[in-house]
Amino acid sequence: MVRKIIHFDLDAFYCAVEEQRHSELEGLPFAVGGRPESRGVVSSCSYAARRFGVRSAMGMAQAVRLCPQLRILPPDMREYALVSRRVMEILHGMTPQVEQLSIDEAFLDVSERSEYASVLARKLQAQVEESLGLPSSLGVATNKLVAKIATDVGKAASSSGDYPRAIQVVPPRSEAEFLAPLPVEALWGVGPRTRERLSAIGILTVGDVVAASPDELGRRFGKLGRDLYRQAQGIDLRPVITEREAKSISQETTFAQDVVDSETLKRALRQQAAEVGARLQRSGLAARTVTLKVRWSDFTTRTRQVTAARPVHDGEEIGRIALDLLAAVRERGEAVRLIGVGGSGLVPAVRQMSIFDTADDAASIERAAQLRDAVKRLRTRFGEGAIKRGSEL
Ligand SMILES: [Mg+2]
Repeated sequence: MVRKIIHFDLDAFYCAVEEQRHSELEGLPFAVGGRPESRGVVSSCSYAARRFGVRSAMGMAQAVRLCPQLRILPPDMREYALVSRRVMEILHGMTPQVEQLSIDEAFLDVSERSEYASVLARKLQAQVEESLGLPSSLGVATNKLVAKIATDVGKAASSSGDYPRAIQVVPPRSEAEFLAPLPVEALWGVGPRTRERLSAIGILTVGDVVAASPDELGRRFGKLGRDLYRQAQGIDLRPVITEREAKSISQETTFAQDVVDSETLKRALRQQAAEVGARLQRSGLAARTVTLKVRWSDFTTRTRQVTAARPVHDGEEIGRIALDLLAAVRERGEAVRLIGVGGSGLVPAVRQMSIFDTADDAASIERAAQLRDAVKRLRTRFGEGAIKRGSEL
């Protein structure tokens, strides 16, 4: 299934907020940041200031040399955080699948929406500007990597001298072509040092990475090299991770009456584990740690957890771990009031895959994805109970 990912980024966020409060600043060169005499740095600068060559992260003293009439405002982080929350609320109005990256940036997964992602992006941009007066730029692509780069490319292409308000769409299957002409530091994980080492072997653009031998990249740069090879082709399977999912996923059951029967407890645990596994897989996550929670009839609660050798997202496997934990904490005949299982220490499940997936691996990943999609469709149509693993029955 092709995903629809939007990267949302406010344009010169701190400056835009200041312009809202101080309309006299509109169109003037100004910057938010520390004072030049105390070696302050530019946190954000207006587009009028950028015309003088002022850039964020530049020393304020240098900024003033470039633009002597530059107005300097101290940052008001409380206000920016407040406005940021309002922006994020608008994003959540479009989909709950929002991953906030920073105070002014977020990814949205709008795959479940029937509209074109580009239409939704346009809508979001208009909503944020109409209700808060804040301009933004958006990138639309099939994954997070390409969507984020698209935003940057869209902004850079703007020559209005005003807020860019860019919307850059990268259609499915054109990712590699879109990335090819960009400098290699557009990819994640390429800092100045790696850039130099890459340029020493003639790799300057993302297209050069694609043309390089994956074996050589792996030999010279290890995991990073293999990762770059994958990124350069526009491949990025990482899911959008919401704040709630990032913490933990768990299920628990309080029994109407204390339960002594071991089989009943095991069945409840297996069902819960299957549900935790299904939710992990829906989010593209795996859990490093599996936790069992048991409340005895005297209301004392015991939790016991184990950190698996590799992150797990398979319901049966989580179930096996939970059953082992139960066997370790419970004496036969002890009455249980509540039982539950959870996964925490969540990581993207795709990290388990190698970049050099062989054809077989790619095929089995594809098959597993098809199976998950089929199960999902059945459950959407006939309810959660429509299809279960044998172990849950
Ligand atoms: Mg921004």
